[in-house]
Amino acid sequence: NIGFFNGEFIDINKAVIPIDERGHQFGDGVYEVVKTYHSVPLLLDEHLERFEKSATAIHIRLPYKKAELKSIIVEGIERAGLENAEVYFQVTRGIAPRNHLFPDVPPSFTLTVKPARKIAERNYESGVQTIIVEDDRWAKCHIKSLNLLPNILAKQNAVNSGNFEAIYEKDGFIAEGTSSNVFVVKNAVLYTTPLTSNILPGITREAILQIAKEEGIESKEERFTKDFLMNADEAFISSTSVEVLPIRTVDGQIIGSGNPGEMTKKLHQLFKGLC
Ligand code: PMP
Repeated sequence: NIGFFNGEFIDINKAVIPIDERGHQFGDGVYEVVKTYHSVPLLLDEHLERFEKSATAIHIRLPYKKAELKSIIVEGIERAGLENAEVYFQVTRGIAPRNHLFPDVPPSFTLTVKPARKIAERNYESGVQTIIVEDDRWAKCHIKSLNLLPNILAKQNAVNSGNFEAIYEKDGFIAEGTSSNVFVVKNAVLYTTPLTSNILPGITREAILQIAKEEGIESKEERFTKDFLMNADEAFISSTSVEVLPIRTVDGQIIGSGNPGEMTKKLHQLFKGLC
């Protein structure tokens, strides 16, 4: 386990964040999570691009250029000596006495490299249970903001009631999971929620759409309802950490045959081919 704070690799348990740090006090920052396979970060350019976009959207200038970020990440992975790691990094508006107004200080950059969290194999074999919840988040969900309070509460609520993920419904349409994008297969067509400020543009989501295109699988970025999801032939969630994870139930109702679907399994296999 390796940490990095403002220019230095550090022991992950070393206290380095002053009390007057805006990530810590306001959640005033943005972040990324990248996974490594055989010590290589998957889709790193895509993650760095989204990181830059998120930072720009909240008017933070990244303290490093893309190439510098890359070399910090690669060095962190090397130092951690992990094949399958989860690389977390964030930028915040910096260290300054608590005040809502932007301070005139450099941003803080933090990174950690830890062993990748393991998702139990049975989740892929049986699919996971999900619940639908009303989307109570803010209006800019395309920004990967540190502010995850609604997501945390919804995910905990889902897990407390025996589910794996909570899926947000907004204005009568499915948005995304608390930490995943949602896909549906109906009549051999792949559907996923279109990119608007309602959802995060998932890197895994994009990779899956690209794979579908290459495989000649018809895909539609179209909004769909909870009813459409419940009557799907197959459904799955996608994210950096779960890759492609079949949905078994939505609000207790079985999706399709109740077993992971053929298209879902195929897309997961093809996705693993990228790793
Ligand atoms: N939506 C939300 C709200 C998320 O937190 C995540 C996980 N980062 C995703 C979607 C999936 O994004 P990605 O595939 O880039 O991990």
